[in-house]
Amino acid sequence: MVVRCLAGMDFDSNIYLLTGDDPILVDTGTGMHHREVMKWLSYTVQQNNVRRIVLTHRHYDHTGGAAALADELGAEVLVHSEDARPIREGDGQQTLASMFGVTGQPVEVTELHGGEILSTGSSKFEVLFTPGHTAGGISLWEKEKGILISGDTVFVGGVGRWDLPSGNFEQLVGSVKKLLSLTPQEIYPGHGDFCQSRASETILEALNYLGGS
Ligand SMILES: [Zn+2]
Ligand SMILES: [Zn+2]
Repeated sequence: MVVRCLAGMDFDSNIYLLTGDDPILVDTGTGMHHREVMKWLSYTVQQNNVRRIVLTHRHYDHTGGAAALADELGAEVLVHSEDARPIREGDGQQTLASMFGVTGQPVEVTELHGGEILSTGSSKFEVLFTPGHTAGGISLWEKEKGILISGDTVFVGGVGRWDLPSGNFEQLVGSVKKLLSLTPQEIYPGHGDFCQSRASETILEALNYLGGS
C-alpha cells in the first residue's frame, strides 16, 4: 500500500504516511494526540525511519503536532514558502491556533516552492503548488498510480474554505482545475473520507460547487 491513513481524531486533520524505505509523513494533526500518532507510526513503519514531514498548509489542525513529531522522529519539516513564516513563527492568527484556543508553537521548517519530486524509495511524489485555501497550500501527486494527496484544497464531496486568512477564491478555483486536469484515480484529503477509484469525479463535483467548470 502506497498511502496509509490515520483518520483525524477530534480536531486533527487526517495524517498520511507515504510508504517506502524512506517514508514521508504528511500533516500532523493538532498535536493533541501525539502519543496515539507515535503508536500508529510504530505499527505502520518497521523502524522509526521517518525523516521527512510534509505539511500541506499552515493551519493548526495540520501543523500543531509538527514540532513534537519532528523532535521525536528527528525529522525535517517541509512546507511551501508562502506558508512558511506563520508556521516558523507560531503565528496564532494565521495558523488558526488561536481559534483552537491555544498558543501557536514555532516550528523549524524547510521551504518548498512546488515542482520538487519527493521519493519514498518506492514512489515518487511531485509537490504541486495549489493555493486558495491558504496562500501556500500544496498537494502531492504520484502519477504512476494516479494518487493525489490534496490537503484542504479538495475533499471527497466538498471543497476547502477560501474565506480564512490568506485564502483566495480565484486561486482555489485555479488549483481545483489544476488537480482535475491530472485525472487522479485516488484522492486522500485533509479531512473526512478518502476515495480509491475515479477520484477525478469528486474533483469535478468540487469545481461545479465553485461554479468554475
Ligand atoms: Zn484542515
Ligand atoms: Zn486548512
